[in-house]
Amino acid sequence: MQRTAATAAADAPVIPGHDWLRRKRLASGPMAALKLASGCDRRCAFCAIPTFRGAFVSRPPAEVLGEAHWLAEQGVTELVLVSENSTSYGKDLGDLRSLEKLLPELAAVPGIVRVRVAYLQPAELRPGLLELIATTPGVAPYFDLSFQHSSPTLLRRMRRFGGTDDFLRTIERARSLAPGAGFRTNVILGFPGETEEDVAELERFLTYGRLDAVGVFGYSDEEGTEAIGLPGKLDQAEIDARVRRITDLVEELTAQRAEDRIGEHVEVLLTEDLSATDGPGTWLGHAAHQDPDADGTTTVTGVPEGAVAGQLVPATVVGTEGIDLLARAAEPAGR
Ligand code: SF4
Repeated sequence: MQRTAATAAADAPVIPGHDWLRRKRLASGPMAALKLASGCDRRCAFCAIPTFRGAFVSRPPAEVLGEAHWLAEQGVTELVLVSENSTSYGKDLGDLRSLEKLLPELAAVPGIVRVRVAYLQPAELRPGLLELIATTPGVAPYFDLSFQHSSPTLLRRMRRFGGTDDFLRTIERARSLAPGAGFRTNVILGFPGETEEDVAELERFLTYGRLDAVGVFGYSDEEGTEAIGLPGKLDQAEIDARVRRITDLVEELTAQRAEDRIGEHVEVLLTEDLSATDGPGTWLGHAAHQDPDADGTTTVTGVPEGAVAGQLVPATVVGTEGIDLLARAAEPAGR
């Protein structure tokens, strides 16, 4: 019988908690994004997201857990939890510790070897959550913290909290619990009123923070935001120059951070077999401190025969190419 869209849909697995919904994964591969919530209740002066996504709404934990089981059955081994602000998860359900409860449960789903949390809000990163992410087996010690800037005065204009010293303390605390923890952030250059001193303050933070990955963006007006009406707008040429200056610095610093990892033990999640082009036992993958989509890769050699995509392989970092790592798989026990 010829398969039609209707018969294919009828054969598709049912998502737990959504018996009415039959779905096939559109993406393939061992990683999958798992949505925790939508919307945002914060009001950063440059951001239009709350105007079109609305208030923060969490998905019930049972629904998230049900989808995690379903994804694992489809062959997913790494879950990436996404939302506009994952630190807020559960606050509208009456439990601001929901993420602390959910993370170990997700890590225990059969077939899931790693859970990663994306989009943590620095102002809401509670000590208990930081500790849980840094120390829970099966949860990547990975901190995706969108600092946006580090000058305290500029951050207040952005309607955000903290500054260089607070952020460095947060990073230091996480590193004291998980020395190999990964840190990524985004920063905005050229926000209205940004001074040379503000840019120098950001350079100080980036230099001392030793982050693994930094997205650098130039400010631009967004409809419906507070920043559009702020005084002190910078010329586009000046914004571009500051973006270039910080991008150059970040490229140097993140490459140095990668070099610092030489000799480090990493767990690489295999994604692509490169044996045909790069020699037997060579795989592409990513370590716990690397987001699969944004933070570079790890090429690992010496992977034992029979390995499959989605498997975690212990390895030692032996070299770097920019922020990408080269690693050698550990000898299997007993050899
Ligand atoms: S930048 Fe993030 S935290 Fe701020 S309003 Fe936008 S989505 Fe919310």
